[in-house]
Amino acid sequence: MPGTVCLTFDLDAVALWIDTFRSSSPSAISRGEYGPEVGLPRILDLLARQSVTATFFIPGSVAELYPDSIRLIRDQGHELASHGDTHKLLPGMVHEDERRTLERGIDRLVKASGEQPVGFRAPAWELSFQTVEILETFGIRYDSSQFASDFRPYRARSGDRIEEGAWIRGRASSIWEFPIAWELDDVPYFLVHPPAFSGGTDPRTVGRIWQDELDYMVANEPAGLFTLTMHPQVIGRGPRVLMLERFIEHARGLGCDFSSLNHALHRLEQS
Ligand SMILES: [Zn+2]
Repeated sequence: MPGTVCLTFDLDAVALWIDTFRSSSPSAISRGEYGPEVGLPRILDLLARQSVTATFFIPGSVAELYPDSIRLIRDQGHELASHGDTHKLLPGMVHEDERRTLERGIDRLVKASGEQPVGFRAPAWELSFQTVEILETFGIRYDSSQFASDFRPYRARSGDRIEEGAWIRGRASSIWEFPIAWELDDVPYFLVHPPAFSGGTDPRTVGRIWQDELDYMVANEPAGLFTLTMHPQVIGRGPRVLMLERFIEHARGLGCDFSSLNHALHRLEQS
């Protein structure tokens, strides 16, 4: 097998604007509504048309706001995974607050979907030094928030810390890490939200970057795992959906298969 492509979608919806960007106007917040209302149906149509199974990371607050969307994703055979509770960043929370936040995020997702998630992605990919240890206690088996590899899953560590400026590594945990990269994310290319993100990149340029990355993996990293991170409120615009479809067809032409992260985890544990 030349490699596996895992399409992942973070359904941040309004939580991105309210919790991360601290927006307080209906106009800014409405940008998040576009995700479940417009972007998601287009993406689900594309995935069905191409017979691709994907992973959707859902904050607990979004699961509660949009239960019909959650059930739609589930009923089309995609994986639902936890994306925290709100989209507030985890670093800086005291241990008990973070534990309660992660638990509530999983609980609200289970309530909407009826399924226990096995995967987790931190809001804005920002783990705290205590997150992995807490996730282990909730039966989470993989995370997708770290950058230490590109096409090879590895064991996330628990108990890393910085002491007097020195970085001290903890133990290998039971949790697999499916690494991510800003180069393989739609936000830095497309989201218009200055000064952090200027956006506006031509989808054809992004399609070429993603295809080149995949070509490299297939040529140099046999049986690699290629994880793309996208957001329905960003990738859901028409020309970007068309670009994603061309990417899927390119990957298929290379002989790659497609898998949810949960299924990739299963295969990893069998090997
Ligand atoms: Zn997110």
